[in-house]
Amino acid sequence: MRDQAQVVIIGGGIVGCSIAYHLTLMGWKDVVIIEKGMLTSGSTWHAAGLVGQLRSNRNVTQMLKYSIELYEKLEEETGLTTGWKKSGCLHLACSQSRLLELKKGATMARGFGLDMHIISPKEALDLFPIMSLDGVIGAAFMPSDGQADPSGLTLAMAKGARNRGVEIYQQTLVTGFEFKGNRVTAVNTDTGKIKCEIVVNAAGMWGRDLGQMMGVNVPLVPFQHQYLVTEEIDGVHPDLPTLRDKDSLIYYKEEVGGLVMGGYERHGIPWALNGIPKGFTEELLKPDFDHFETLSTAAIKRTPCLETAGVIRLINGPEAFTPDGNCIMGPAPELDNCFVAAGFNAFGIAAGGGAGRMLAEWIVEGEPSLDLWPLDIRRFGQYHKSPKYILDRTREIYGKHYTISWPYEEHDTARGVKRGPLHCLLKTRGAVYGAKFGWERANWFAPEGVEPEDKLTFGLPNWFEHVANEHRAARERVVLIDQSSFSKFEIEGPKALEFLNWLAANNINKPVGSVTYTQLCNERGGVECDITIARLAEDRFFIITGTAFGIHDFTWIKNHMPKDGSVMLREVTSSYAMINVCGLNSRKLLEKATKEDLSNENFNFSQCRYITVGYAPVLALRVTYVGELGYELYISPEYAGHVYELLWEEGQDLGVANAGYRAIDSLRLEKGYRYWSAEVTPDYSPYDAGLGFCVALEKGDFAGREALVKIKEEGPKWTLCCFTLDIDDPRLLYGGETICYKGEVLGVVTSGGYGHTVRKTIAYGYVAAEHASYNKGYEIEIYNEVIPATRHERALYDPERKKIMM
Ligand SMILES: Cc1cc2nc3c(=O)[nH]c(=O)nc-3n(C[C@H](O)[C@H](O)[C@H](O)COP(=O)(O)OP(=O)(O)OC[C@H]3O[C@@H](n4cnc5c(N)ncnc54)[C@H](O)[C@@H]3O)c2cc1C
Repeated sequence: MRDQAQVVIIGGGIVGCSIAYHLTLMGWKDVVIIEKGMLTSGSTWHAAGLVGQLRSNRNVTQMLKYSIELYEKLEEETGLTTGWKKSGCLHLACSQSRLLELKKGATMARGFGLDMHIISPKEALDLFPIMSLDGVIGAAFMPSDGQADPSGLTLAMAKGARNRGVEIYQQTLVTGFEFKGNRVTAVNTDTGKIKCEIVVNAAGMWGRDLGQMMGVNVPLVPFQHQYLVTEEIDGVHPDLPTLRDKDSLIYYKEEVGGLVMGGYERHGIPWALNGIPKGFTEELLKPDFDHFETLSTAAIKRTPCLETAGVIRLINGPEAFTPDGNCIMGPAPELDNCFVAAGFNAFGIAAGGGAGRMLAEWIVEGEPSLDLWPLDIRRFGQYHKSPKYILDRTREIYGKHYTISWPYEEHDTARGVKRGPLHCLLKTRGAVYGAKFGWERANWFAPEGVEPEDKLTFGLPNWFEHVANEHRAARERVVLIDQSSFSKFEIEGPKALEFLNWLAANNINKPVGSVTYTQLCNERGGVECDITIARLAEDRFFIITGTAFGIHDFTWIKNHMPKDGSVMLREVTSSYAMINVCGLNSRKLLEKATKEDLSNENFNFSQCRYITVGYAPVLALRVTYVGELGYELYISPEYAGHVYELLWEEGQDLGVANAGYRAIDSLRLEKGYRYWSAEVTPDYSPYDAGLGFCVALEKGDFAGREALVKIKEEGPKWTLCCFTLDIDDPRLLYGGETICYKGEVLGVVTSGGYGHTVRKTIAYGYVAAEHASYNKGYEIEIYNEVIPATRHERALYDPERKKIMM
């Protein structure tokens, strides 16, 4: 074996081979794959081979779409058979809710550039004549989906990679790593050591164990997954589409005149919880016919021919599943030169081609060409290291693989992981909790006599009116919102200002006591982080970002810091609770609890002060995410209960109310405030997002400036638009709906919801700049229903910012 390579990829499954293939396409040839068995000998060789494309996120769907573009031409390029067949995929609906879900999917597909159309049960039967229509009320068909031979695809990509210089070492076990500081310097194997500049963990369900060897957390659990293979069946022909009957929890594909039938039972069986047995390679698990019975019984109902069909075998293969059902990709935050691509949740064949390309871009260019936040390894936190958490939540996710995915659905398992100091108190006030990044956060408050529980629906939910009341309380009176889960960092040192002013697009060089809203941009001008920075001292800053973005943003900042010790960065999330006091009466309320001068002259918008509230020292920031006068009070957790009780008591005559996260969302949509990962992402610049006012080009050089100057000069390609639906009855949008102009697709809704003050359904989304200024003709498509919409130039609520500045 060679003793050195630029990139060492561990894992010769579809994902590892695809990464190598794409690295060589991008000109990196000094690449090695190390595989402990033979290529495909992990989960890849026994995959069923269905290749679907539609996911709930546009970029992830684009990634899968690319897989198909690649699979269509791979055979021609390499001369190896891939078994690729564009058979289409048929989805059945056996309930009105499922049909709505399919319609939602069809709308989303259209916005993502895919054709998926709703068809009648009769049309479905024409496509899949061997099924019974019992219970089927509708269906959807996606003609561009297909199926392939997983081993064929992998070997073809391996050949393509080899042709361009990649070396593949099979039957070579990675046994350990050598490190220098935060870098892996060499990979140890049972046949020798290989030095490397970059290491890639593409080890499938072994990815967690391998990660542990490197000190990198890869939260996944292997689960048993079974499918049946039959002998030839009359009427099963090669043109049969793949079929997903999710209400019966089953899927099908044609294979040499017979059927492959598998599914996702509600109670999946995890495997090898104490570690994957040594030497487990190219092996299957013992078929578990008893466990498979719920699926086979449902399948016999759907396709009666199965009752008499000869069964060749029941495949039981282990596969890596993750706590949120998405795979794990990107740069490991724990190390400087390690990338991960593992945990593919039974869609690794569909994803493999695209995932390999994205990871290759990540390695070569520092960023993938599509923002892949839902898959990004930096979405996981410390609590994802807990085997109990990973198992409990992944078990739930596996069991819900094919159940209806309801809007606003919260998870049942692994709850109560992180609770702020106000958690119990707010529960007694009716708080209905949801979980974000492990934190329990009040979504809404059930008034006395109302059941504190979400009822899942595609229509108007049970909490709609209660959230409306919280929204109105914020606009007309004053509310307290517990936002303790915000991620917080402190950064200090002699070069802290210089560094932050270089990293941020806005000007941070403002007097002590200033608060700046800014983006941190990448070299393309895309927004990597969307944060607030408070200057606490000449050389000390307090940074606030979203609950779930802490690891991501911390890593981005840390990776760009000077290495000479002149800047120090600390994670301080748990050191501060936060109570947001906001609304028309917020100043009046806070004045009752403090002796400080809170007048506009003394404590203006975008400023921060240390004040005392009751008995408690508090860092107060005068900022808002709801579009009202307001103060974010950062408090040591031990004082939070006292501050809350005091404000609640003093606020009685001012109409104080509790509000939760669903009210925040409605309030911020009316005000046009963006949310990172929806409206602001690495795919778009601040100019695209309408945040040009946050870009201080005049301050001198900073990260992304060159690209931003160009974008400004040439004019942004994209415009983030605000629409309202031209109908009176409220609709809840969830993002992913389609934006059209006179029937033509222009874009996809990034965020949507109902504005209880403007009494309109609001949708935000990007459209190409040349399509962003029509007076009328816009439409938003929801569940296949087209609704006329009006575009608005300015924020719907208080565009003059009078409320904020008063
Ligand atoms: C029964 C079943 C049906 C499925 N059906 C489908 C389907 O229809 N469609 C779909 O898209 N997906 C399907 N999947 C999922 C799909 O098989 C996987 O997502 C995919 O194969 C994952 O590929 P991978 O490269 O990440 O992992 P793997 O194929 O497991 O590759 C990882 C490799 O790393 C190697 N390795 C691990 N540790 C080391 C070490 N220390 N040293 C050296 N090498 C190491 C392993 O030997 C292995 O070959 C199915 C999975 C199962 C189990």
